[in-house]
Amino acid sequence: MKNWEKDLPSGYREALVIDAKDNKKLVRGMGIAALLLFALFLWIGIATQWSGMKQQAPSTRMASGFFITLMVYIVLHELVHGAAYKLLTGQKLTFGMTLTVAFCGVPEIYVYRKASLIAVLAPFVVFTILSLVLLFAVQDPWVRFYVLLFLGLHIGGCSGDLYNTWMYLTRFKDPRTLTRDTGPMQTFYVPIENET
Ligand SMILES: [Zn+2]
Repeated sequence: MKNWEKDLPSGYREALVIDAKDNKKLVRGMGIAALLLFALFLWIGIATQWSGMKQQAPSTRMASGFFITLMVYIVLHELVHGAAYKLLTGQKLTFGMTLTVAFCGVPEIYVYRKASLIAVLAPFVVFTILSLVLLFAVQDPWVRFYVLLFLGLHIGGCSGDLYNTWMYLTRFKDPRTLTRDTGPMQTFYVPIENET
């Protein structure tokens, strides 16, 4: 099956628009989800690592390393979306950043469900696996604490991607579903005959 279409085929209708930039309700919901996940992982980090952490003074070097890692992560997260889109479609990408979201899209085409799902989920899968590998590979309680904090921020930062995934799993199960992803905004199109 093809991964994408240059033009929207006839017999499709627009079914949903997800706007992660201008939809205030969605932005707020994603922000709250991200905050709760951060709090949860902060708590897990303290609860599981505290006995080891209190034996060593906190290192400012490690703390600054953590913040640099986060900045690099924001860029890498989008590059992973971009790499997946590029491999699956070969089309022109768009990248950008606002105060609330960083984004990557492939604005000139319509992408089929499977390819879209892979591109949307790629950073979540890649960075979750890397974090878990690191978490089990290191013994230092402070490093483990920071990895857990990172996991919380990463999963929270993926709330938009996970919301899109949820939509594919619940509402747009038809493999013919097409999505136009301009970056901050995704529009879903479904075949009209499909409706009940
Ligand atoms: Zn993302």
